[in-house]
This record gives sequence, structure tokens and C-alpha cells, in this order.
Amino acid sequence: MQSIEPLDVSSLADWDGPSRVLVVEDEDLIREMLELSLQEEGYQVTAVADGRAALNLLLGEGESGGSFDLVVLDLMLPQVNGLDLCRLLRRQGNPTPILVLSARSSETDRVLGLEVGADDYLTKPFSTRELIARCRALLRRQRQSYLPQPTVLQYKDIELYPQQCRVVVRGQVVNLSPKEFRLLELFMNYPRRVWSRESLLDRVWGPDFVGDSKTVDVHIRWLRQKLERDPSHPEYILTVRGFGYRFG
Ligand code: CA
Repeated sequence: MQSIEPLDVSSLADWDGPSRVLVVEDEDLIREMLELSLQEEGYQVTAVADGRAALNLLLGEGESGGSFDLVVLDLMLPQVNGLDLCRLLRRQGNPTPILVLSARSSETDRVLGLEVGADDYLTKPFSTRELIARCRALLRRQRQSYLPQPTVLQYKDIELYPQQCRVVVRGQVVNLSPKEFRLLELFMNYPRRVWSRESLLDRVWGPDFVGDSKTVDVHIRWLRQKLERDPSHPEYILTVRGFGYRFG
């Protein structure tokens, strides 16, 4: 198979062998296709046909299972379905990147997949070329997350210094509350990603927060007042009608 982009060697810090990919797909033909094309790409592939088997492997401790670099996960599965599996893994604090595969293509399903903790989404039918490109991107991001944290996140004329908890907007230091800072840091780490109010609550306030999603709207309003040139016509934090917010 032809490779579609050069391997970015510079990002492979502490490279320790082929990436391990877990494929979870109940349709035999698709599972075999996935297994084959990922193997051809040089990945070490484990393939299972149901959610329960995947869960056992992912939560299994010791050298037998446990550590995968990427999970390629079908949504409609026997035993434990893909969405539940995602949710469960994230609740356990498992950070393995997840690429969700689904026959369903509506925006709602896509957002739902991302909301329960998937990192990317591919709608069936897809080409192996597309699959490999997505897998590479996720693995690259995964490798980079082992590197030291960036000293500054920048978007247009906003700079955020994670270690100093400092934000500079158009050359001026802006004072943010801890929650506003966390919210902006999350946004700037994932530009253009759509966040529901619930997932923002989960990530910034934590799963134990008691309160409703209006809290998010209030903080977004405050952030806009501090960041935007014209808070009533925001250019950084945008409202995505029916879904939530996105940055950039
Ligand atoms: Ca299926």
C-alpha cells in the first residue's frame, strides 16, 4: 500500500516500537479489512468482535493487555456498545485515543461520539486511505502528548501561558478566574472543536459538579467580555446553535 504522507520522524519522541492498535468491530469483513490495512501500515493490531472482549483487554492489567496506543471502535456492537465503552473508559481515566466508526452520519451522532470521549469519528463507508490518515493523526497527537507541555498557546492575538496561568490579549494581560482560565485553555487546546455545555461542565468543573449548564453560559459571557473586541459579535468563542460552543 502506498503511504500517503511522509512519516513525521521529529514527532516520534522516545519511539518504542510499533504502535499498538485495538480494533473493535463485529462485522467480520470490515474487521478483517481494518486489521489488514493497519498491519500493512506497520501497526501491531489486535482485533476483537464485541465490546465486552474489548473492555477486558483495555482494562486488563499487566503486560497482556492494558496498553494500546489507539482504539478503532465500531459503535453498534454486541454486548457492550461503542458509546458505552467510550464512556466507561473515560470514566476510568483511560486516555487512549479513540477513533469511532459508525454507519450513522448525522451531526448529532458525531457530537454524541465526541461527547462521550471519542477523539475522532469516521462514517461508514470509508476508504482505507482516510482511515490510515485519521489513525496517523491521532497517534501523532498521542506521541506529542508525552512531550513537554507547550509554553504558550496562541490563537490570533490571544496568548495563553499554561504554566504561568497568564493570558495576554492584544498585548494586554487579562485577569481570568481559575474557571475562565481552564475553559479558555481547553478551547485553545482544541481549536474549532464543538463542545456541548455538558462536556464543558465535565471537563472544567468536573463530573461531581452539581449545577446546570447555565453556569457554562455565564462563564462564556464573562470570557467574551474579557477577550472579544465586541462581545455581542464574538470572533473567538462562537455559539454553535443546538450544540454548544467552539473556539475559532
Ligand atoms: Ca457493528
